[in-house]
Order: sequence, then C-alpha cells, then structure tokens
Amino acid sequence: MNLPTHTFKQYAGHRQKMIEEIINRGIRDLRVIEAMSRVPRHLFVRDSFHHKAYGDHPLPIGESQTISQPYVVAAMSEVLQLTGEERVLEIGTGSGYQTAILSELAAQVFTIERVKSLGQQAKQLLDGLGYTHINYKIFDGTYGWQELGPYDAVVVTAAGPEVPQALIDQVKDGGRIVAPIGDDQGQELRIYTKRGKRLSMKRMGDCFFVPLIGKYGVPEGE
Ligand code: SAM
Repeated sequence: MNLPTHTFKQYAGHRQKMIEEIINRGIRDLRVIEAMSRVPRHLFVRDSFHHKAYGDHPLPIGESQTISQPYVVAAMSEVLQLTGEERVLEIGTGSGYQTAILSELAAQVFTIERVKSLGQQAKQLLDGLGYTHINYKIFDGTYGWQELGPYDAVVVTAAGPEVPQALIDQVKDGGRIVAPIGDDQGQELRIYTKRGKRLSMKRMGDCFFVPLIGKYGVPEGE
C-alpha cells in the first residue's frame, strides 16, 4: 500500500479498538488481523463518516449500499484460509474495503460491482492506495467472471436465495465460497467447499446484507 504516513496515522487509535473488537469476537487468523490493522478503513467512507468508520457496524456508501461491518469482513476473509497464493473472485466491490483486505491476503483479486459509480470510485481509491493486483469489472456478478477463472475462492458480499451456479462452476475443486444466503426476512452466512461435483456447507451464523441483484440472484425492483 502506498500511503502518506500522516494519513495512515490518522485514526490509529480507532483502528486499534476495531482490532481488539474483532479479536474479542473470535477472529484468530494473524494475517487477517494484520491486514485490517494496515488498511485505513476511514478512506472507504465519505468524510462525514470518518469518525464512525472503525465502529463494528455497516455504514452507508451511497446508491442505497453499505460498507460491511469490520467483524463480518474479518470473518468472511478468515474462513477462506488464504495463504497469499490464491486468485479470489469477489462479487460486490461496494466501497472496495473488503477488496483491499482480500488483496492483502491473496495473490490476485477479481472484483465485480453492478453499480458503475461505486465500482469506479472503489477502483480510483484502491489505485491511489497502490493496489496493483486487482482486476475490476462493472457487470452483474451472478454470472461470475468466466474468462479469468477458475478461482481458489469466491466471496459474495450481497445476499441471494442461493449461490449462483456460475460461481460454483468457476471455483476450483477444493475451493471455497463464502456467501450470505436469504432475503430481507432472514439471512445466514455460509461457507461452501467444492468437492468434485458436490458442495459441502457450514453455517456461520445470522447476518444482514443488501440483495444480490441480478439474473441469478434477486430480480431488480423486488
Ligand atoms: N464488501 C463491500 C464493502 O466492504 O464495501 C460491501 C459491499 S455491499 C454490502 C454489496 C455490494 O454488492 C453493493 O455495492 C451492491 O451494489 C453489490 N451488488 C449487488 N448485486 C450485485 C451483482 N449481481 N453483481 C455485482 N455486485 C452486486
């Protein structure tokens, strides 16, 4: 990351508190903890929310979308067990915060956002921070990104009724998919592992995400 020291030092105390909070909630992967200690989360929200950026809650990022709460970003990143070698597909770039964390943890990140202004804003910020191994696409992520697959891991940051088949097809054998499943009446976070043609699944707990809008997700306007 390419950051003037004064920008990084800003909110250092808030960032430390956020790290204590995610550790208290059970995050143990040191690589995830270090990545979240490095990334200046306040830059991923508008100026008036800088002082709230490190609290354990989502915040609005415009276009009726949100930046996910720090604990959820940490838990979704940790469960993928990334070692630094992987190619990771992310559906729902949003603010780009989770993209930055994934980029700290994996070799290459491929991120898709359906809302053009959000995708462009995130790219501009992440380029400015010096993240060079991220590939961006503005499209419906329920199709995945077949041309550049297969992927070791897939992160879906918006909730749909099920994991779109394209994402299952584009993950390698032994690869993992973490995704919120459900609707505005109830959702749970799930981690899937691909074994041949089968997927094993573990439940990670209740969650609340914005809808995964698209051809193989929630129809637009519903
Ligand atoms: N991880 C993001 C962050 O840290 O800011 C959170 C993103 S927000 C909870 C979910 C994002 O998914 C939104 O920006 C939304 O526009 C996007 N999204 C919803 N459906 C999508 C789809 N079919 N393809 C790509 N992006 C989608």
